[in-house]
Amino acid sequence: MNTASISGLVLAGGRGTRMGSVDKGLQPFGGATMAAHVLERLRPQVASVAINANQNLDAYGAFGAPVWPDDTPGFAGPLAGLEAGLRRCATPYLLTVPCDSPFLPMDLAARLSAGLMAADADLALAVTEENGLRQPHPVFCLVKADKAEVLSNYLAAGGRRMDGWYPQIKVAEVLFEDAAAFRNINTRDELQSLDPARPPRLADVVSCLSAYDPDALPVRDAQKIIRDFVAPVRATEQVALRSALGRVLASDIVSPINVPAHDNSAMDGYALRGSDLSLDADIRLQVIDTVYAGRTSSAIPSSGECVRIMTGGVMPAGCDSVVPQEFVREEDGVIVMAPGTIRPGDNRRFAGEDLKAGSAALCKGKIIRPADLGLLASLGVAEVPVQRRLRVAFFSTGDELRSIGQPLDEGCVYDSNRYTIYGMLQRLGCDLIDMGVVRDDPAALEAALREACENADAIITSGGVSVGAADYTKQIMARLGDVTFWKIGMRPGRPLAFGRIASGGKSAFLFGLPGNPVAVMVSFYFFAREALLRMMGAEAPLELLRARSVAAIRKKPGRTEYQRGLLSRGADGLPEVRITGSQGSGILRSMSEANCMVVLHDEQGGVQAGEMVDVLMFEGLI
Ligand code: AMP
Ligand code: MG
Repeated sequence: MNTASISGLVLAGGRGTRMGSVDKGLQPFGGATMAAHVLERLRPQVASVAINANQNLDAYGAFGAPVWPDDTPGFAGPLAGLEAGLRRCATPYLLTVPCDSPFLPMDLAARLSAGLMAADADLALAVTEENGLRQPHPVFCLVKADKAEVLSNYLAAGGRRMDGWYPQIKVAEVLFEDAAAFRNINTRDELQSLDPARPPRLADVVSCLSAYDPDALPVRDAQKIIRDFVAPVRATEQVALRSALGRVLASDIVSPINVPAHDNSAMDGYALRGSDLSLDADIRLQVIDTVYAGRTSSAIPSSGECVRIMTGGVMPAGCDSVVPQEFVREEDGVIVMAPGTIRPGDNRRFAGEDLKAGSAALCKGKIIRPADLGLLASLGVAEVPVQRRLRVAFFSTGDELRSIGQPLDEGCVYDSNRYTIYGMLQRLGCDLIDMGVVRDDPAALEAALREACENADAIITSGGVSVGAADYTKQIMARLGDVTFWKIGMRPGRPLAFGRIASGGKSAFLFGLPGNPVAVMVSFYFFAREALLRMMGAEAPLELLRARSVAAIRKKPGRTEYQRGLLSRGADGLPEVRITGSQGSGILRSMSEANCMVVLHDEQGGVQAGEMVDVLMFEGLI
């Protein structure tokens, strides 16, 4: 029996009452619906597919397969679906699978047909064994289409049990080892917990840590939780090569050609045969032709001959070496060079040396830089698949904040965080939604968070998450979703809110950064940046350098400290770092004067002058 003799039928005829009366097959699962997953696995195994359904016929029709309702009325169970399938089946065999089995085996048809043939049976059904118990799966069955009559008679007589008609036919059981492949999904909870596309909950992620105290969370635990919680945005787009600069590559780029396409010269000089290179006497070669860059020569030098060649010229047949022109004398069409000037093989570039046809030139997830644009151009690639830009909404909170252009009332400060955040997000290549200053007012804050959530993939706020701040900021953030509030073992920047909120059917990741201007930057770089890049589909962990500390730095073990620093070259030429001015967490000037941040880790104590420390450079931090 082969694929051509089997039709496939997805059984989706039930009412789906346990799923809140929503049709099971149409439930979202793994980025599609359950029925779509079942169809995807069934299609390659059979000649054609159809769906048995009794409601939502248009929605099932949209899968591009015929939809067959039951012939026996009144939701008579899966057997009625089998009947509908057998009566319309155009091939000798029908294979059925339920619409809630998104993991069904890819060799279901092959194994059931082998079992059916071996036993010379009319029907073969799958069975699995769990804890020594045989578990039949009668809805996964392969049946001879000519048994339709027998089944119709059984149903007409009021029979409903899936195996009730077995005594009238010959049945074979086929044992499958992988019981999980037959798992069906009956409740919303099961659906949620098995869905590979289901977003994790913070509680799940946090439970992976051996110790978790939100009020004393080490930096690296906070970073790990954030990394495990955020997920890439899946949408991609095709852009013209130049527009791909700074974007994240959405799929591997496989080279369609060899680069370079031919063996060619790396120098202006003379192409020759390596076997002509003598080690003890001057070498004299007759010049028989000239090849310019990108050109070929039909000349085939014999022993004692050579071809004048320019950089990039295609190597003439038989030649394997190039002597640069400055190493030879030319007299009357003959070149002369001293023995040992070059070795055989010198100055020749091989075809495919940069890239072989069929190999990955660039890998998915790479942020495209100028060199990558050039590389893609060298392959003739005009359009590039990239991740869609991440949309990030951001706002500042605080009654004391004034926007530039407004008078600075007594006791107020200008909102600087929104500009710092703008700059950092802009450098990451995000699409920005600047929502301005939001007052310390519950209704205003809720409205802003909802609007941000409905329009962006991620939200960055500053202020309002510290201990002294009005409590409702946290309450509102928490009410809108799965948000946690941390006190992180770090300085500056202890408080941080993180999670995902939902509004109007949309959801967005939330980073509630502290209000202090330096703390904002530190928390952005060490927590938000990597997470946003991950959402953009790129993996770009921070790269720390090592440098010598010029002076001693005081520090207590047990928390991470970030100090603004100036990295320069010491007298011995090696990098050294000094701390800039006052390190208060509100003093932006020291951040502006710095070119790096010194990272003093949790376990580390005070630093002696001359000791090596970790440093994060600002430039290149995109
Ligand atoms: P908060 O976390 O809201 O208590 O703010 C901590 C400190 O940072 C306060 O002194 C605020 O005035 C200051 N601050 C908060 N947001 C901003 C901002 N957007 N620009 C400048 N300073 C701010
Ligand atoms: Mg505030």
